[in-house]
Amino acid sequence: MELIGWLWQERTMTRARSSFDYTIPIVVVGGGACGCAAALSAKASGSEVLLIEQDEHPYGTTSMSQGMIAAAGTKAQQAAELDDSAETFFNDIMEKTQGQTDPVIARALAENSGPTVDWLTEHCEIPFEVDLGFKPSYGNSRYRVHGWPGHGGEDLLGLLHRRLDDHGVDVMLGCKLTDIFTDETGAVSGLTIAQPDGSSEEFGCGALVLACGGFAANEEMVAKHMPELAHARYNGHEGCNGDGIRLGAKLGAAVGDMGSYQGYAMLTDPQGISVPPVALIEGGILINNQGERFVDESKDIAGMMLQVVAQPDGYVWLVYDEKIEEISLYTNEIKELKQLNAPKHADSLESLADVLNVPSAALAGSFADLERAKSESNPDSVGRDWAGKRLPQASFRALKVTGALYHTQGGLQIDGEARVIRTDGTAIGGLFAGGGNARSVSGPAHWGYIPAMGLCTAVTLGRLAGLGAAAYCEHQAEPA
Ligand SMILES: Cc1cc2nc3c(=O)[nH]c(=O)nc-3n(C[C@H](O)[C@H](O)[C@H](O)COP(=O)(O)OP(=O)(O)OC[C@H]3O[C@@H](n4cnc5c(N)ncnc54)[C@H](O)[C@@H]3O)c2cc1C
Repeated sequence: MELIGWLWQERTMTRARSSFDYTIPIVVVGGGACGCAAALSAKASGSEVLLIEQDEHPYGTTSMSQGMIAAAGTKAQQAAELDDSAETFFNDIMEKTQGQTDPVIARALAENSGPTVDWLTEHCEIPFEVDLGFKPSYGNSRYRVHGWPGHGGEDLLGLLHRRLDDHGVDVMLGCKLTDIFTDETGAVSGLTIAQPDGSSEEFGCGALVLACGGFAANEEMVAKHMPELAHARYNGHEGCNGDGIRLGAKLGAAVGDMGSYQGYAMLTDPQGISVPPVALIEGGILINNQGERFVDESKDIAGMMLQVVAQPDGYVWLVYDEKIEEISLYTNEIKELKQLNAPKHADSLESLADVLNVPSAALAGSFADLERAKSESNPDSVGRDWAGKRLPQASFRALKVTGALYHTQGGLQIDGEARVIRTDGTAIGGLFAGGGNARSVSGPAHWGYIPAMGLCTAVTLGRLAGLGAAAYCEHQAEPA
């Protein structure tokens, strides 16, 4: 656990207040996947819920995403006869983070991600399936990435907002959380929101769920907690300003893993489309504009962006082939890139060097290294193991890509029920957090991120937060 030191001053300004003109049982802040899961699960528990979202049109990082969710022990996995369990997922998280993550949060995610994806399928009628193109990789030791075939994050969030409407959850758009009140016991008692006409309103709440996303759009916080990204390109939602983290810390909450993030190495230039990892998993490689390899593309899905942006001119080529394109065409992104004629085509190594304008001898050397590694069953010169894998071959495809910061992984310290925890280890009564707003399970830096964990934490912790908020309000209402 660590403290945002510069918040100490602000923290002393927290106002205690327990009386308001009106009080809403549960308020959820943020209309992304986390907020929707929280609001829908609280409502299903019988609570009255209000969801507020600062934007007039809810979009969030969720809508920018590919809509893939890691989850273990789902009915979709069982139907596809895929072996997985909460224990295996937990072990994967601990191994990927070299034991440097919070085991309580890891356990909560491992155990509740499967039931949450089942709940999304059954309660919210979003037909998730296991993405069989997303083979076990980058820390997921099983087929565990789920998606809604043919649909990405925008459709996912659109449908979640339809479900809010179907289930009678009140939603206020264009309203921004600006402050939180606590009562004399330190429990959450109310909030202030800024409204679209510039006015502000204060009202009470029984419980508050912070689902405001991370802080990747906040340049000051990024420079402080992940200085290596101070000047990096950002490819996430502008609403991720760290509001929920700052306001939670102001109440005395601890924060954790603030230097942790997901970068991504395959943002196409100029289209700005994220190439799905399947292109690398199936054998794609990255080549810089000198025709050289520079990173083991199978190792660190999030941190690879640092090596990419460090290459000459800050961009590289994703080189794959016709077969990989065919395999990846089920993804919206590869389909769209193909429709845009974005991939360069080449029928030989010489013409690939020509088309990419890279030195042909160096490119030939890079491919000779791959052939040698494959034939000798040794890793190649950047450490990638090709055993049982196919090398890319003519007819080649290539996309110009660069690296960017996508979303942060540090945030408010929570327990296994998504309750926000103070620096002394006690829970702040009535305060819950999830998704980008909460500490995730990616360890202290970039290298611990497991694919599809962003939405896993959003929906799983969102659901736990909603259930926890409903139980908390019910408990508060019981006669003493
Ligand atoms: C290009 C891209 C692709 C990705 N693909 C995947 C993927 O396929 N799988 C995966 O697991 N992860 C993916 N991620 C990460 C994933 O999208 C996020 O981890 C996840 O969407 C976070 O959900 P959230 O609900 O916490 O935040 P968000 O979806 O960002 O929602 C937070 C909401 O809170 C609102 N808000 C913020 N502050 C306030 C305030 N003060 N008052 C009121 N409202 C506020 C924001 O406007 C926003 O709408 C991707 C990320 C990017 C950028």
